[in-house]
Amino acid sequence: MTPASDRLAPGSTIGILGGGQLGRMLAVAAAELGFDCVIYEPEPDCPAGRVAAKCFTAAWDDQEALAAFADRVDVVTFEFENVPAASLAFLEARAIIRPGLKSLQLTQDRLVEKQFIQSLGLETAPFAVCDSLEDLGRGVETIGLPAILKTRTLGYDGKGQFRLSQITDVAEAWAALGGRPAILEGFVPFEREVSVILARAIDGSVAAYDVTENVHQGGILHTSTVPAQISDGLATKAIAAAAQLAAALDHIGVLAVEFFVVGGDQLVVNEIAPRVHNSGHWTQDGCAANQFQQHIRAVVHWPLASTQRHAPQVVMTNLIGKDMEAWADLSGQPDTFVHLYGKRSIREGRKMGHAIRLYGLG
Ligand code: AMP
Repeated sequence: MTPASDRLAPGSTIGILGGGQLGRMLAVAAAELGFDCVIYEPEPDCPAGRVAAKCFTAAWDDQEALAAFADRVDVVTFEFENVPAASLAFLEARAIIRPGLKSLQLTQDRLVEKQFIQSLGLETAPFAVCDSLEDLGRGVETIGLPAILKTRTLGYDGKGQFRLSQITDVAEAWAALGGRPAILEGFVPFEREVSVILARAIDGSVAAYDVTENVHQGGILHTSTVPAQISDGLATKAIAAAAQLAAALDHIGVLAVEFFVVGGDQLVVNEIAPRVHNSGHWTQDGCAANQFQQHIRAVVHWPLASTQRHAPQVVMTNLIGKDMEAWADLSGQPDTFVHLYGKRSIREGRKMGHAIRLYGLG
């Protein structure tokens, strides 16, 4: 257990890189423990900035702003893995960064990430590197179809992806991704998708939540249900794999690992997110300590808290685009908790909030 003297004291300031809904929920969790947050985000009027002590609105390569941000905070964390590594490296010379550069560098490029996963003896989808249309043609020959072409960097919520089902899709797929460096992934015939959300502390201790089962629509997470319909043995294996990945990254904070379940008992790692994750939002109303508090605790060197679930079943449903208009109805439903992100306008495919419903309460 962390000696009390090592813990960052309440009243200290946490810097958060990224000002979206994840940053907002991290800032709220930090406030509950007595910390102030300062956000750094290029977009003005961001959701996290409106619940924080201060927000720097500046570009990722603005060194003057980054230096001023570092001066203002006691520790820095991030809410998304697409912060340029150069910006994090610049900050690392001026502030404590948790998690560190390694967690970011090994997960922000799909190729590097897949090679890292395989180096630990874990399985990924088969893949081929595509730097040109010719590479893509060769990739289709080796990987086969159907397959998914994904940009190596900056993809999220199904963006930067193109599904190929026949050979005639090749040119369109390459054009759709704008010729950016990509990988072609073989389509995994999964039975279900699950994820592990865990936190890892500075002393290497790990606290994992129950494995979550996820349903995506159009590449965007739609619902997360806990417990996942998998055997206890497979759940233990998934948590062990996620803990192995976290340890290899020397990760500090929350880490999410998404898996495909194939053939009943085989786990294929889809993606690692070195941060709090949408498939962990159910912990807000479903667990003793939620993923946001847990991340803050790890970052400020407090001991990790209990991940105990307190309802037989928990279902989190994302409110995407116009789904948000159901907030009034949802807020009146039994054992249902609505969380909204304060985004100024509804757009198709935009995550606006989520609802968590607890089932089986006595
Ligand atoms: P990603 O952004 O890579 O996590 O992809 C979003 C979603 O697309 C995943 O959660 C899956 O539902 C689906 N998907 C992505 N890659 C594959 C794959 N190689 N095989 C099957 N489905 C996939």
